[in-house]
Amino acid sequence: MLIKQLRLSGFKSFVEPSTLRIEPGLTGVVGPNGCGKSNLLEAIRWVMGESSPKSMRSGGMEDVIFAGTATRPQRDFAEVQLSAETDEGDELEVIRRIERGAGSAYRVNGSDVRAKDVALTFADAATGAHSPALVSQGKIAQVIAAKPVERRQMLEEAAGIAGLHVRRKDAESK
Ligand code: ATP
Ligand code: MG
Repeated sequence: MLIKQLRLSGFKSFVEPSTLRIEPGLTGVVGPNGCGKSNLLEAIRWVMGESSPKSMRSGGMEDVIFAGTATRPQRDFAEVQLSAETDEGDELEVIRRIERGAGSAYRVNGSDVRAKDVALTFADAATGAHSPALVSQGKIAQVIAAKPVERRQMLEEAAGIAGLHVRRKDAESK
């Protein structure tokens, strides 16, 4: 899967709607400490269905909504749109939106879907919120310190078989 564009609005420090085109090849994001580089990676993880506020460096999921500054009021919602091309060459557009007091809602190619559907979409493409392709600050130290079970989980994700577990869990719950 190729991520082609990200659009953020009210997400963490990206208060005004911001569109980032990701061209083929290597893209570098540079800027001073605290300018929002890690927030961008978190936006990718979030739109792919991340459900743990902790891995978004947040206490609760609503904390991803722009919290306001001395001169700017807070926002009521955060939205991230990810445009990608699948390995089959199809266009994929995923939108996640969270409103204060209302939780998250997802759209895939214009239709409302469940969080689970988004997780499956990305798990089957061997990517997603917990993909080993997304390495956050401090993650390397975490791999070294991980318990065996956690490390196995990381390896399964790296091997692209984590999607099978999501499907098995889904089947078992029926
Ligand atoms: P470093 O180079 O230190 O790793 P960085 O470029 O990765 O920095 P980030 O961690 O992405 O920076 O951005 C941190 C900034 O995002 C901080 O200024 C923080 O106040 C801001 N921020 C995070 N969440 C919110 C929020 N909900 N509302 C407003 N600002 C936020
Ligand atoms: Mg950072």
